[in-house]
Amino acid sequence: MTSTRPSALAGAFQGDLIGPDHPEYDTFRRCFNRDHDQHPALVARCTGPEDVRAALHHARENVLGVSVRGGGHSAPGYSSCDGGLVIDTSPMKRVEIDTDARTGRFGAGLTWGELDAATQEFGLAVTGGRVSDTGVAGLTLGSGSGWLERMYGPTAASLLSAEVVTADGRILRADAEHEADLFWGLRGGGGNFGVVTEFEFRLHPVGPLLYAGLLLHPRSAAGALTRFYRDFMEQAPDEVTGALALISAPPAEFVPEQVRGEPACGVIVVYVGDVAEGEKALSPLVEWGDPWVRMVGPMPYTAVQTMLDAGTPVGVSEYFKVDYLPELPDEAIDTALAQAEGITAPLTQLIFCPMGGASRLDADHMALSIPPTKWVYFCLAIWWGSDGRERHIDWTRSFHAAMRPWATGTSVPNFIGGDEGTARLRNSYGPEKYARLVALKDRYDPDNVFALNQNVPPSG
Ligand SMILES: Cc1cc2nc3c(=O)[nH]c(=O)nc-3n(C[C@H](O)[C@H](O)[C@H](O)COP(=O)(O)OP(=O)(O)OC[C@H]3O[C@@H](n4cnc5c(N)ncnc54)[C@H](O)[C@@H]3O)c2cc1C
Repeated sequence: MTSTRPSALAGAFQGDLIGPDHPEYDTFRRCFNRDHDQHPALVARCTGPEDVRAALHHARENVLGVSVRGGGHSAPGYSSCDGGLVIDTSPMKRVEIDTDARTGRFGAGLTWGELDAATQEFGLAVTGGRVSDTGVAGLTLGSGSGWLERMYGPTAASLLSAEVVTADGRILRADAEHEADLFWGLRGGGGNFGVVTEFEFRLHPVGPLLYAGLLLHPRSAAGALTRFYRDFMEQAPDEVTGALALISAPPAEFVPEQVRGEPACGVIVVYVGDVAEGEKALSPLVEWGDPWVRMVGPMPYTAVQTMLDAGTPVGVSEYFKVDYLPELPDEAIDTALAQAEGITAPLTQLIFCPMGGASRLDADHMALSIPPTKWVYFCLAIWWGSDGRERHIDWTRSFHAAMRPWATGTSVPNFIGGDEGTARLRNSYGPEKYARLVALKDRYDPDNVFALNQNVPPSG
């Protein structure tokens, strides 16, 4: 390793260079997940593809490891590193929307909150993350699950093209006709093949008002409610979406004071379509039981997209397991509820999301593999600081193990942890897609410059 001083890059570089002496070093070196606390040699805040090219050149010349950052939400902490170079694409916030064609070009540094605000000016949207400060870049490349997925598929299903800087510094535009293999790989292959500087999406008419909201029931109702929710969702039209979550009642004003912090069962309801039709379609679920909180009505899509924000404030620590469930039989529900009794941290969320609809796609035309299951669970242990870390991780692993009889044992790449190994990634893609990804890696990144991610190593 030779010089890592910011001045070594300064000539060719338009953006900010943040080294350990910079007053904002801590802001830019940190990931969302504070369980990962890394100290890179340099953060290169890139303004466009030329900056990315210069940063990659600098990393190569100085034998620096590279991590790539969009919104910084990588739960396994891949968007920072120790002693290496962070290629930070978050300054790229350009937005260009063609309302007639219903398409848009978006800088790789946008968050979902920023993209949603821009597209909703025209009543348009693309499937986006459920927490608004998640980055467009990482989510599009490696998972793309959101409230719109039953209607419009995962985010990558709406990707039309991407501008990419490859490991050797080429600036390419990949779409279905140009660099088609690379385009296939960017739709679900994660950050393995290059640094994306711009995404072009097909946009869909959504909102601006949707019928949506949340219900909060006591945990004692969870057994009956989860069964009702399963039966309701499994026959619901694609417009109906949402999630059921085992959580602690949040300390929020809308929650009655006496139940704050108590074990609860929350239900998010969203109807992606006409407000009046949504009210009718969701009424059996909204009217069910005697919830502590029933807060459902017409609301802006941009508000729907922030409903979960307060549950994962910046600065928390997180450990997760995510898996698909072909079915959700009563035994699986009872097992999940029994496991939930042992939750070790009050911010922890155990979320069940319905799949189906357009998320059921048989996606040969993209790297992303979503099995044809009815459910996916997100087991997210969330805590502050480092207190009880091992306990929280052990609980998450024990939940995952207990649910194994009903699970596929697979996940999309963004939800595969750093401790889960290549085998789970390989199984999740399946052998054919994985082999194709390795061939792509050999072609576009044979030296594995982009290794800090859910990595597909080159064959060599
Ligand atoms: C609170 C929270 C909520 C979430 N909600 C959802 C959800 O609703 N749906 C869902 O699908 N996922 C969700 N996720 C997971 C999320 O999709 C991934 O963590 C994703 O990687 C975050 O993208 P980012 O740009 O913020 O991440 P970053 O940490 O910036 O990047 C993650 C990885 O993506 C790659 N990457 C980032 N930017 C680029 C780029 N410009 N070019 C090439 N590669 C790049 C790199 O490999 C990087 O390591 C959530 C995560 C968190 C922490």
